[in-house]
Amino acid sequence: ARAVDVERDGSGRVSAVVFVVGPERQRHVVRCERLVVADGVRSPLGKVLGREWHRDTAYGVAGRSYVKSGRFDDPWISSHLELRAEPGGGAGLRAANDKGALLPGYGWIFPLGTAGEGGEVNLGVGALATAKRPAALQIRPLMEYYAELRREEWELGPDLRLPTSALLPMGGAVSGVAGPNWILVGDAAGCVNPLNGEGIDYGLETGRVGAELLASRTDVAEAWPQLLTGHYGEAFSIARRLAGLLTVPRLLPTFGPLGMRSQTLMTVALRVMGNLVTDEDRDVTARLWRWAGRRSVALDDRPPFTA
Ligand SMILES: Cc1cc2nc3c(=O)[nH]c(=O)nc-3n(C[C@H](O)[C@H](O)[C@H](O)COP(=O)(O)OP(=O)(O)OC[C@H]3O[C@@H](n4cnc5c(N)ncnc54)[C@H](O)[C@@H]3O)c2cc1C
Repeated sequence: ARAVDVERDGSGRVSAVVFVVGPERQRHVVRCERLVVADGVRSPLGKVLGREWHRDTAYGVAGRSYVKSGRFDDPWISSHLELRAEPGGGAGLRAANDKGALLPGYGWIFPLGTAGEGGEVNLGVGALATAKRPAALQIRPLMEYYAELRREEWELGPDLRLPTSALLPMGGAVSGVAGPNWILVGDAAGCVNPLNGEGIDYGLETGRVGAELLASRTDVAEAWPQLLTGHYGEAFSIARRLAGLLTVPRLLPTFGPLGMRSQTLMTVALRVMGNLVTDEDRDVTARLWRWAGRRSVALDDRPPFTA
């Protein structure tokens, strides 16, 4: 059922959630003591509660589809950081006929094994953007073009099933994430890693720590953004700063391949991009990353999770 509104008591606490059900849009009111809002990237209920997305820092533009593939059970996920136009390919792509012209965005293919409809891969494309440098790409044509490029190699079928796209707030670029007895978690709270687009683990983690917090306090309005800032603030701040750099045209394709030839650099990159540096780590990379995170937050006009 779709949640469309909340009721509040005199102290500002949410006392009930209003749902509409069925084609007659019947109204149902469900009383609650605490509320966890996990309604994803657009967060309609979060908006009702005052959540705001700030687009000045890096955000994602991404689309995915499902495609039949002879390699649906391949053990590897694949991604292509650099997409190039080829003559005659990619209907609707402006650059499609310029030999080798660089296209904005990257692509991925995730084999699904026997999950879902069976025999399919998840195929998608994405790019990073900021309010200053919006991504100059049309998701659907780019996705079709990417499928065309990989069709032979991945034995892809002709149709892209259930194509969908979204703008993705990242790196805590939202404010208004909590009230006295409610919290936003996962995508609704902008908890997506700006460097690799991962949000599933953050969704699970914020759900867990959020439930613990709600169970232990009567008022979480201050405590929830503080906890998010403590957990993710520094890493998100530096990550979205670096992700903002990646929106500079040609930077990734120019320096990416150089970096990828260095095993040391790639080991460091995968570790920091995946947010795999823990507070206990004492090595040079970990210390540098934490230092950069602290410096980055100090320089932020708007640190993560603030207005
Ligand atoms: C194209 C694409 C590729 C991605 N690839 C990856 C990846 O490879 N790895 C990774 O870790 N992350 C990836 N992500 C991000 C990941 O999908 C999200 O971060 C994650 O799903 C967030 O989980 P969530 O529970 O917060 O929100 P969601 O998974 O979006 O769930 C929100 C739910 O709330 C429901 N809902 C919305 N509004 C209402 C309402 N008003 N009332 C009731 N219910 C409502 C929705 O129907 C939905 O079921 C990708 C995202 C996109 C768009």
